Amino acid sequence: MPLFCKQCSDRRYPEYHETEKETLWLCKTCRNFTNAEDVIVREQTDEEREAVAKKLEEFDKTSNFPAEKLSRRKGVN
Ligand SMILES: [Zn+2]
Repeated sequence: MPLFCKQCSDRRYPEYHETEKETLWLCKTCRNFTNAEDVIVREQTDEEREAVAKKLEEFDKTSNFPAEKLSRRKGVN
């Protein structure tokens, strides 16, 4: 398993890709994908980078929700 990057020794993250129909391993430092044989398949595209950024943004929004609820409840009491 290509858990660690050969180039920078950073940890890789597995991601399933519909296009390749397999799990590719992403190095966030080198921004490239390797397959299960530890061969570099391709580089991360700008669209993929944006998708990751968007997901993080949405996560930030949803994690703010409980705090809003709490402040609303304070008004009721
Ligand atoms: Zn790397």
